[in-house]
Amino acid sequence: MKKITIAIDGYSSTGKSTVARQLAEWLGYVYVDSGAMYRAVTLYAIRKGFISEERFDRKGLIEKLPQIELEFRKNSEGKVEMFLNGENVEKQIRTLEVSEFVSPIATVPEVRRKLVKLQHAMGEEKGVVMDGRDIGTVVFPNAELKIFMTASAGIRADRRYRELLERGDKISYEEVLENVTERDTIDTTREDSPLVKADDAIVIDNSETNIEDQFHIILQLAKDRIAGRV
Ligand code: C5P
Repeated sequence: MKKITIAIDGYSSTGKSTVARQLAEWLGYVYVDSGAMYRAVTLYAIRKGFISEERFDRKGLIEKLPQIELEFRKNSEGKVEMFLNGENVEKQIRTLEVSEFVSPIATVPEVRRKLVKLQHAMGEEKGVVMDGRDIGTVVFPNAELKIFMTASAGIRADRRYRELLERGDKISYEEVLENVTERDTIDTTREDSPLVKADDAIVIDNSETNIEDQFHIILQLAKDRIAGRV
């Protein structure tokens, strides 16, 4: 059967990764969470002291980029996890601290170039579902299916807040909302590969739709393209 490339872009906490993961599982495709890659570089930068509330040593980070090795590995349940220089960092990259610094890190063109190169290699043979901010515009501009996901900032922050609470993080809803809106601003206004809807992307606003319905809508769009109906 013909394999296609599926690009799912959109704002933070729109449920991109949930739907992308389900879709990949259903189709037997590879799932790539490109945000996890930016988060892993951010964790590295925090640990090495390149970024903090007080400073951002872009030059220092750029120099160390060749020493950052990223890899996705499947755990025993088949869930893909992020490894940074051989260490499983799946949990550490989801903290609010990493979320606070990831957007500034993602503005650095050298970081983007490194990660886009890895992403190209992962999607080389098609049969891939990748989610992020620039997948349909920069990474795979020829993807057969492009989805752009959006939802109101309040609803997105609420979802993220619940997720973090469930993990046991001590944070307030206001902090999460502030992080979500700040990331939106940085992601949409940065010079290199800003978050913008590709001309041929299909917009899904999931403020009101539930995950189940959303999955079925996107699955049908994918099936139509695989079968050559579109
Ligand atoms: O998808 P997630 O929310 O985990 O992404 C974290 C951050 O990584 C985004 O807010 C954005 O700054 C950056 N990112 C990016 N390009 C991508 C994926 C993520 O700039 N393709």
